[in-house]
Amino acid sequence: MSNNELYDVIIVGGGPAGLTAGMYAMRAALKTVLIERGIFGGQVAITKEVENYPGFIEIGGFELCEKFLQHAKSYDLEIIEKEVVATEPGVAYHSIRLADGTVLHAHAVILAAGGTAKKLNTPGELENFGKGVSYCATCDGFFFRGKTVAVVGGGDTALEDALYLAKITKKVYLIHRRDAFRGSRILQQRVFAEPRIEIIYNAVVATINSDAGGVNGISLKDTQTGESRDLDTEGVFIFVGFAPNNQLVPAGVKLNTTGYVITDEKCETSIAGIFAVGDLRQKYANQIVLAAADGCTAALAAAHYVETRKAVSA
Ligand code: NAP
Repeated sequence: MSNNELYDVIIVGGGPAGLTAGMYAMRAALKTVLIERGIFGGQVAITKEVENYPGFIEIGGFELCEKFLQHAKSYDLEIIEKEVVATEPGVAYHSIRLADGTVLHAHAVILAAGGTAKKLNTPGELENFGKGVSYCATCDGFFFRGKTVAVVGGGDTALEDALYLAKITKKVYLIHRRDAFRGSRILQQRVFAEPRIEIIYNAVVATINSDAGGVNGISLKDTQTGESRDLDTEGVFIFVGFAPNNQLVPAGVKLNTTGYVITDEKCETSIAGIFAVGDLRQKYANQIVLAAADGCTAALAAAHYVETRKAVSA
């Protein structure tokens, strides 16, 4: 089923980058549609508090995403809530194929599919997902009120979520494979000051142990001495990084060795008229403000691209 309407821009993904692109594309009077398969806001929507988005000293992640969505909708941005299964580059236009078989066409495509939490790939992890293993403290922390949990990782997400979990659980083991955290200094200071967090450096999770009731412990291996140690815990929260959702990036678009899309300063990929923004794109840091900035850049660049295409074909 092909929709013969030709859009100026199709945006795939409704996180901060995609919604900002939607706002800017509408302000540039482009015929635009944004497609999102799940919750608007992406990773930010499942973040409890955001403290570093300019203009908001502190705001809930979900609330901030709602503001992005309302702002984009205020320009009458067309939104389709369906799954995209493929991006098909073309000469006259690019196409986006939906899971229901519909194919949409546009001069420009902005890919804003974000990323997903990485797995540890440790024995017991997949089997116990939802039975003690979690990748989202704000979604699942509630189930561990008054219990002992382990947090794995040393980046901003691990530190931030360990602090969040320390407020609702009895104790948090924070397990990091090195002896220094990667996360920001301000979060480190808060973690060091939190009596309910016990930091275990130089350790990796060898197995996640369970019984019929779900997770009941983890076995750690010391990366310096090789010694093993068991810990009793009912929850394991894994925050070991992030992988870009690059499944919809078409062949021919250049990726770096870790799967992020390589773009130029306009967020344009190696295929003209296909842009990549936010956590999908290779850049110095992944922050909400940078995702929003990418959305702005790509929409402005797409506007210029669409104008040029129309002028050529006129
Ligand atoms: P990240 O910064 O990539 O950190 C991942 C952590 O997991 C690192 O400490 C890494 O250890 C550890 N790790 C990776 N693989 C591991 C494994 N197999 N076993 C054990 N540990 C492993 O990921 P993130 O914390 O999800 O953050 C992603 C991006 O979002 C970052 O740019 C971050 O700044 C940003 N972010 C920002 C905020 C904020 O500003 N409020 C909040 C959340 C996230 P090593 O350090 O040894 O590599």
